Amino acid sequence: MNAPLNPLRPADAPIARVRGLHKSYLLGEVKVPALRGVDVDIPRGCFTVIAGPSGSGKSTLLHLLGCIDRPDAGRIEIDGVSPQTLADDQLSEFRARRIGFVFQSFNLLPVLSAVENVEYAMRLLDPAQGHSPAQRRQRARELLGEVGLGGMEDRRPNQLSGGQRQRVAIARALANRPDLVLADEPTANLDGHTGAEIIALMRRIQRHTGASFIFSSHDAGLIRAADVCIRVADGQIVGASIPEVQHEPA
Ligand code: ADP
Repeated sequence: MNAPLNPLRPADAPIARVRGLHKSYLLGEVKVPALRGVDVDIPRGCFTVIAGPSGSGKSTLLHLLGCIDRPDAGRIEIDGVSPQTLADDQLSEFRARRIGFVFQSFNLLPVLSAVENVEYAMRLLDPAQGHSPAQRRQRARELLGEVGLGGMEDRRPNQLSGGQRQRVAIARALANRPDLVLADEPTANLDGHTGAEIIALMRRIQRHTGASFIFSSHDAGLIRAADVCIRVADGQIVGASIPEVQHEPA
């Protein structure tokens, strides 16, 4: 695809701008191409889905957007910042401050309680934020309340269901008030009903905070919840659209 896709009004600067992105993995001696020249603008303040079949490059794209990995070639800008130009410590700070990430397999720290998992994300930015331990605890408790886990703050991940664990992970992703929340197939390890609840929760939080959310999915039912749908196949963008489903006002 030559022209970058921009499904939003031109006056709005995108939250993420991607140009000529390439990424391959080495599998032994074999080079496996995951992204093969991706150009896309992802609109700000929207609930965007990256949709495509398994193996199409969704995770790779989200990991690059989340600055968890670096591309082989091409450019990414997140809110006007090029992560490639940052030194490792600056990149860690940028990621912790500006980006929240929700993983397929939750990635909670098993020895910490729910509230401690959320606090941990805030501790990564201290002392810059200057929050006292009591303030961190208070905010972590509030966030857990917002994701529907009031009363479960002291449970460890193994005392929570999959859906509850993903709620903790969402609270953790929001801890530092990020501009961008990325969720890599956040429903992949959940049953259909729980997955739909998780997407509805993220949808509500996105409306409430106005942050930009991008999640990946291959589930048509979940894709319909999004404002913007960017389709990938075989490591390339093959289309972008705003689904026709109308949402109720927040
Ligand atoms: P999706 O998220 O859409 O399932 P991925 O981004 O995970 O797609 O994968 C894109 C391609 O890259 C696939 O062919 C996959 O097998 C390959 N791939 C992904 N991660 C690795 C890895 N760590 N090592 C080797 N190949 C990988």
